[in-house]
Amino acid sequence: MPLHEIARGILAESGRPLTAYALLAKLEERLGRHVSPPTVYRALGQLSAMGAIARIESRGAFLSVDPATSRPTRVFLLCDACGVATQIDDPLIEQRLAHLALARDFALARGVVELEGLCAGCDPSKPGLFPS
Ligand SMILES: [Zn+2]
Repeated sequence: MPLHEIARGILAESGRPLTAYALLAKLEERLGRHVSPPTVYRALGQLSAMGAIARIESRGAFLSVDPATSRPTRVFLLCDACGVATQIDDPLIEQRLAHLALARDFALARGVVELEGLCAGCDPSKPGLFPS
């Protein structure tokens, strides 16, 4: 299996944005051999070109996304505590962003909206989710 496909699998299993170095460590663990940083960046470049990852700027990290749902903009909920990332699949938000850009004669190429907070599992105000 090509290295970028192994990297893709690791990112998909994680469910969290991974930095290039976290991905490198997991690749080395999986393959049982040394992996160089340029190799990891090459794999990330290939996955990016395939539309299989999104870069999460606030975390300096990469998240697996479904290339079949390739869109110019994506919206994510990012948990500050556990790091889990959830993509919001709402065509209305995406259409609105595209419309706002178009109305300003702006040729929208791509964008990632990052909403930060606490997921249901990490929010202490959500009773019943934690053992007392
Ligand atoms: Zn969380």
